[in-house]
Amino acid sequence: MVDTTAQRRIEKLSGVKGMNDILPPDSARWEALEHQVRSLMRRFGYENIRTPIVEPTALFVRGLGEVTDIVEKEMYSFEDRLNGEALTLRPENTAGVVRAVVEHSLLYNGGKRLYYMGPMFRHERPQRGRYRQFHQIGAEALGFSGGELDAELILMACDLWKDIGLEDVALQINSLGQPAERTLHRAALIAHFERNLDVLDDEAKRRLHLNPLRLLDSKNPAMQEVIEAAPRLLDFLGEASRSHLGVVTSILDANGVAYTMNPRLVRGMDYYNLTVFEFVTTKLGAQGTICAGGRYDYLTEQVGGKPAPAVGWAMGVERVLELLKEKGDATAVSTTDAYAVITEAAFLPSVMACLQGLRAQGVSVQMHASSAEGFASMKSQFKRADASGARFALVFGKDEVSAGLVSVKSLRDAQVPQVTQPMDHPERWASSLQSAA
Ligand code: ATP
Ligand code: MG
Repeated sequence: MVDTTAQRRIEKLSGVKGMNDILPPDSARWEALEHQVRSLMRRFGYENIRTPIVEPTALFVRGLGEVTDIVEKEMYSFEDRLNGEALTLRPENTAGVVRAVVEHSLLYNGGKRLYYMGPMFRHERPQRGRYRQFHQIGAEALGFSGGELDAELILMACDLWKDIGLEDVALQINSLGQPAERTLHRAALIAHFERNLDVLDDEAKRRLHLNPLRLLDSKNPAMQEVIEAAPRLLDFLGEASRSHLGVVTSILDANGVAYTMNPRLVRGMDYYNLTVFEFVTTKLGAQGTICAGGRYDYLTEQVGGKPAPAVGWAMGVERVLELLKEKGDATAVSTTDAYAVITEAAFLPSVMACLQGLRAQGVSVQMHASSAEGFASMKSQFKRADASGARFALVFGKDEVSAGLVSVKSLRDAQVPQVTQPMDHPERWASSLQSAA
């Protein structure tokens, strides 16, 4: 008899478009990068901050600016079903960090250096290096106004490229000046684009009077020539802004950091002023920016806090890892030291006590698992042991276990003689299983 209800096919569910599963062995690359970032941040004295993935929508609308790509078209926003609150999955995390810093008065006795890692969400067209859930690692220095902090953050990013072995990353810098300087530039910019109305696309026309700086960020090839000819904000900078930039570049020069001044560089959010910068590679096509940031001295006020200067950057983890992969970096090797081969269920209690003893000494060990029929043949267990990448097999056979012993067999090197070891004293021989590395 066929039970039709049991046979009914259940539709297979798949993940959301543009949102990726990060699977082994790739996940090992992620962990390795995160590990290097933690060590880097410790060296520079940056502390970890973890803020919620969901924030009030108003935080991003006010913080990033209404007339920006992110706020106009990329946010995952929804209404809280119970109280109607307008919420958004964070598209970036500078605004969230600033909110938290203000909310918890973290600047009460001076500046704070903070870093974060985590997922961000933007409704973009998925393509290589551009996803709907992606990950950023970011660093923010809040409460400091000097250009030396801008430089410190840039040096920190450069150190990271060195640590992980990324070459061919070019640094571009610009200064967006201060609000008064931007007002002058804005008028010149509007006049320039008004003279070239016929080349502007609809979006550019709409934004021209709302936020003309955004036009410089347009990716429309037809507009590039007019953008290229637009008045440069750099030419509108006053003495103070120029000297801030000078502090930054003199520190970079003294540290041998190469950069190019790019007067067209504007960032996608309105919160920036003075220094802005991007680390760019030519290896990822149009998605070449792997890290971007700048100064945002007015954002704390924007979210209702006391004025406090700040500067920071965020890097795209997927793009950095893709670059590393492209470079043909060795995939992180399996870290399994040993694989336990076991022949009878009755041995499990003493075998697992032995394995626990090994793990307590830092050995990584995987145990063969039984199936409904019991344990597989030695031969097929050894196949598994080989596939696991482990360097040693620990054989818990009948002869061994009845004598309180385990056979240790090298899976990599036939020259290494097989030895037996006492099951109840794993601490005595644990170190012989660990690689020197
Ligand atoms: P782009 O011009 O490529 O859209 P952006 O200016 O919007 O970048 P930022 O908001 O400055 O990007 O984010 C910092 C970094 O995060 C980027 O340089 C990039 O490496 C990464 N990033 C941004 N958006 C995405 C995305 N949708 N998918 C993957 N990485 C992203
Ligand atoms: Mg973008």
